[in-house]
Amino acid sequence: MGKIEDLEVFNGEGYQLSRLDKVIAAARANSVWPLPFATSCCGIEYMGSMGSNYDLARFGMERMSFSPRQADLLIVAGTISKKLAPILKQVYEQMSEPKWVLSVGACASSGGIFDTYSVLQGIDRVIPVDVYVPGCPPRPEQIIDGIMKIHELVKHEGIRNRYSEEYKAKLDKYNIEINGK
Ligand code: SF4
Repeated sequence: MGKIEDLEVFNGEGYQLSRLDKVIAAARANSVWPLPFATSCCGIEYMGSMGSNYDLARFGMERMSFSPRQADLLIVAGTISKKLAPILKQVYEQMSEPKWVLSVGACASSGGIFDTYSVLQGIDRVIPVDVYVPGCPPRPEQIIDGIMKIHELVKHEGIRNRYSEEYKAKLDKYNIEINGK
């Protein structure tokens, strides 16, 4: 069960009040559905985080989605070749708003040791990234820490953020339309 301690609640006799944006943020933060986009070794570490030792399901996140339309957290773990970059972008575009991106490991974040003609030097060249997890590979604890940072972002994001000019400008830089067309 996720934590909802950030939810401000006012109790009265027979009723309870809170702020709608806080309730929505708490619901979103505690029901993140990840889409694992795992291509190499970092993907194995991510799988480790799903095992009983690390128990990613402690957040109620055991429901992995392999359909972009039913996922709101894109977890990119592994080396992304330039040839694969358009596919990654298409997967991102197919996800509904609001959505977040976690870049796991040196390869996904910067190309890692593969400074070559064929490897994308960081997924933020094609899609916006919310949280980067360093390491080659990062341990499952680091991946879980990255996911908890995503939870914090989700909890504190205003419900109108995705309609803001700033958000539109951010996607414009990547030539991506809101809700992907
Ligand atoms: S960062 Fe290291 S462990 Fe992760 S995919 Fe690249 S080479 Fe493999």
